Amino acid sequence: MKKLYRFLLQQHIGAPDSPVVKTGDRVERGTLIAVPTKLGANIHSSVSGSVVEVNEREIVVEADENQDGSTVAIQADSIIDAVKEAGIVGMGGAGFPTHVKLNTDLQGGVVIANGVECEPLLKHNIKEMEENPALIIRGLKYAMQATKAARGIVAIKAKNTKAIAAVRAAINDASITIAELPDIYPMGEERAIVREVLGKLLACDQLPSAAGAVISNVETLSRICEAVESKKPFVTKNVTVAGKLKSGRESVVFMDVPLGTPIKDLIEAAGGIDGAYGEIIMGGPFTGKSVSLDSVVTKTTGGILVTLPLPNEKRKMGLLVCACGANEERLRELAQKMGAPVVGVERCKQVVDVKNAIKCENPGNCPGQAEKIMKLKKSGAEVVLVSNCSDCTNTVMGVAPKMKLPVYHHTDHVMRTVGHRLVRRLKPTK
Ligand code: SF4
Repeated sequence: MKKLYRFLLQQHIGAPDSPVVKTGDRVERGTLIAVPTKLGANIHSSVSGSVVEVNEREIVVEADENQDGSTVAIQADSIIDAVKEAGIVGMGGAGFPTHVKLNTDLQGGVVIANGVECEPLLKHNIKEMEENPALIIRGLKYAMQATKAARGIVAIKAKNTKAIAAVRAAINDASITIAELPDIYPMGEERAIVREVLGKLLACDQLPSAAGAVISNVETLSRICEAVESKKPFVTKNVTVAGKLKSGRESVVFMDVPLGTPIKDLIEAAGGIDGAYGEIIMGGPFTGKSVSLDSVVTKTTGGILVTLPLPNEKRKMGLLVCACGANEERLRELAQKMGAPVVGVERCKQVVDVKNAIKCENPGNCPGQAEKIMKLKKSGAEVVLVSNCSDCTNTVMGVAPKMKLPVYHHTDHVMRTVGHRLVRRLKPTK
């Protein structure tokens, strides 16, 4: 049966790429098929086959029946060139082109490997640390070399003891250490990591470089190592599939999934959907987006979550928006899917506007939400839907029940699907 792989032209922050192949062209695994027009990254085919469609949004390749596993090598003379030619982007979710990030002179600063994986249910970064720690450490050293950093730190949640042991055993250099972080959301946010690891609270518009740091996801570092040492373009991604699966509630991790793979193929490979479902979420429970089964794996795909149907909720709903969880648009989408009329919207008081985006002044460190909950009650809310971090949700739970306001967290339908504890009254664990 013919198998199609779809390569989106926008798989990164910046502008969509421009195709360099046309319908009918023959491609191999690793053939360059699209290049950036502005800020962006190269895109290579992840399979050998024929180009069957090129349009404004994507390039479609019909894969050969037999894939021999070989990959066309990139040409590069330096670390940054290799990363650029390989088309590597940040794999923690944002998709910022990594060659641009590595083009920073840290003058003896620090590269932090982000292995925090703060979204619940996602396990692919943990598996990468457990199974490929030497690749990550070598990638970290290349990143340190490119940015002239004197130190490297691998940030991991303290609860992931197996990953910590594996990474510790792979460290063969006194300039690299491990930082063990608490299990709260959003511990993996870059400014939260800088605060916890370096003790510096950055302003909302500051990058980690203002603290002498560059932060790179652990899978990104592995791909850097592959590009530098094996001249391998970035054509595969590690992905977690979880949720309402016939195989059960455990997350299933697929390593090295070819980019462009239809997500329904991965869901099938994970056991298939178990009966009626609510949403297919691409990403984690906190920041993922609802997508259709026709979606494909991109350079930033981390999780694919199949949820229970959403509850019916006819009561008037107030929304409380967090800068690090679901935004207002996503909360409105969930309210609409639940059937609830929205009567008020408030933002956590630490939310600030920065260049067309919202940011948190101090991620995961709550100033208290009583005032916001009272305002929602005054707007006529009979129930609230919040997207707050662990700490803020604790404070919501300190006031909302006293005001007789039931609370939904936007991750509830995901967490209930797999029997995970809900985001309520959480205590950070060391
Ligand atoms: S303090 Fe507020 S904006 Fe910041 S992470 Fe928590 S809920 Fe979100």
